[in-house]
Amino acid sequence: MINILSKDVINKIAAGEVVERPASVVKELIENAIDAGADIIKIKALKYGTELIQIEDNGDGIHSKDFDKLFLRHATSKISSIDDLEKIDTMGFRGEALASIAAVSDIEILTRHQSESNGSLIKHYDGKITISPTSITKGTIVKVKNLFENIPARKKFLKSPRTENIAIWQVILSYVLSYPNIRFEIEIDRHLKIYPKSELIDRICDVTKIEKQHWLELNYDNELKIFGYTTLPKKQIFDKKKQYLFVNHRPIFDQNIPKAVQVGYGTFLMNNTYPGFVLFIEINPAEVDFNVHPRKSEIRFSDQNKIFNIIKDIISTILKNHLKSFVKDTIAEIKPENTNTYIQVKNPDFTIQEFEEFLKNEEKHYYNPENTSSVSEYQSKAKPNIKSSFLIDKAIKFNQNIYDTIKENTYQNDTKTDDTNLDIQNLEYKRLEKTFDDYDLSNVFQINNSYIVLSTKKSIVIIDQHAASERYFFEYFIRYLKSKNLDKQNLLVSEVIEFTIEEIEIIETNLPIFKQIGFDIEIIGKDKIIINAIPAGTKFFNYKKVIKELIGQFNENFDLEKSIKKIAATMACHTAIRFGDPLKKEEIIDLINKLLSCENPYSCPHGRPIIYEIPFDDLEKKFCR
Ligand code: ADP
Ligand code: MG
Repeated sequence: MINILSKDVINKIAAGEVVERPASVVKELIENAIDAGADIIKIKALKYGTELIQIEDNGDGIHSKDFDKLFLRHATSKISSIDDLEKIDTMGFRGEALASIAAVSDIEILTRHQSESNGSLIKHYDGKITISPTSITKGTIVKVKNLFENIPARKKFLKSPRTENIAIWQVILSYVLSYPNIRFEIEIDRHLKIYPKSELIDRICDVTKIEKQHWLELNYDNELKIFGYTTLPKKQIFDKKKQYLFVNHRPIFDQNIPKAVQVGYGTFLMNNTYPGFVLFIEINPAEVDFNVHPRKSEIRFSDQNKIFNIIKDIISTILKNHLKSFVKDTIAEIKPENTNTYIQVKNPDFTIQEFEEFLKNEEKHYYNPENTSSVSEYQSKAKPNIKSSFLIDKAIKFNQNIYDTIKENTYQNDTKTDDTNLDIQNLEYKRLEKTFDDYDLSNVFQINNSYIVLSTKKSIVIIDQHAASERYFFEYFIRYLKSKNLDKQNLLVSEVIEFTIEEIEIIETNLPIFKQIGFDIEIIGKDKIIINAIPAGTKFFNYKKVIKELIGQFNENFDLEKSIKKIAATMACHTAIRFGDPLKKEEIIDLINKLLSCENPYSCPHGRPIIYEIPFDDLEKKFCR
């Protein structure tokens, strides 16, 4: 038998599309506040939004003649004809949100339209509306109570309170980012945060916790407008969570544009790192369809390829310009009196002309989304010949060298922790004969704060100090992690480090793993942690980086046994002596002894060589003896 469903059931089914979880309610109500022209929005959620979601705004208010239409489906003040869909400039237009929310909760709205002298309280309980006078000076307060109480099936599908709260924060933060001219006051289950009105860049820094100096501004104003900020390649970000896209100020989830940005970065991006960006696209509403998703979080551009290419080109142009001006400033800064165009950096093997040649070469390899399925495929195709790939490697090295030279004491991070490069078998090898013996420890020295040089009876031996130290710590951490008794060392001064709310969530979920690998961490507040202890016998140069890299490796099915080598490689990389650190003689000798105590002293955990030996025989040939 075919039943015609009642209006109540139809509404509840339709509500499922719009109101999937508490965060969707928050999204719709914030959008309504923005559409009402508010510049102060206060948001409150209790019991992850299931007990109460309250959004207060100082916008236009709702006129009493509209009260009876508020909860009707497809009732909106924002469009009136099909043509209006082509020029939407409001967040809402489907007239579905209040109807959908009302179908799955109890609603109270306090509002006063700017043209009216009194405020009203509109209650929508169990499908019945009551209206009474109330005192409210301006704007609208919407209170959504007992969400999903009347549909237990949906309530059961909600995730943990923390996950739902994170989803609420994510929704709020996307509007916080795109409306820096609105003040947001947020209270979610006792966590308070205020975002005062500010400049876009300050908002971005506040939300992402990435400091100003790591962002590069972009501004493109043509047939469409693209503006925002993107991170410098040197700011290594290990996940895609710092990528925000807004189309006509609407937060959008799109697969293609992040790809375009990544292609724009090309080979300037290190392995396993991602760009961070906050991009605003402003486009004629007629060229984009916002109506492909009930929650309006996906869109379709009429010319997808055009947008892709514009974004890719803007990103690569601003990066190249930035790097070029950086290179020029660097030359001026390092050798003001020198007219020679060689860069006076650690490895002065790359000239600005070569760099520019590289940039030109790079431009030849265009990514075409039509016939290349992934960015990595593009990147491998973008290195079609040895010359080009040689230049790319040089450019990356060059780029790194400049930064490292300028930023003294900056931790030189070789994060090429590609699993495939990990020298996993090596530890299982039986101890190999050392390549060099009879070495003379009385005659060792360091050159360029980077290499250790010593001689044996038959050869000169050059050791990469960072790689050597890293290898030692790699093996140290493997032994440490395998030992049942993980000694910790308490820090004299505990480190307090800020993270984003999402990162805190991951850290909190993985506190037991941190304990397992020798860290004593506590979460203090919603965006800070305190590190009290670390594995015995180590120090880390940059706690934040090591924590970030570690949480990048803790996925849902994390198993320490299987991941020991990766975790050890990360910890070793952050503990090892850096390329560029000056060493005292005792430290040099200590390092050589440590290296020689290793199971495999030949290559670092990423597979790069550690020791380079030049036999005297070869020297004799060179000098025609
Ligand atoms: P839509 O936003 O798509 O128009 P909604 O169901 O979200 O649909 O809202 C219905 C109508 O209620 C809106 O068109 C608007 O006129 C009014 N409204 C809702 N919230 C507010 C608010 N905070 N301030 C002023 N008017 C509001
Ligand atoms: Mg709306």
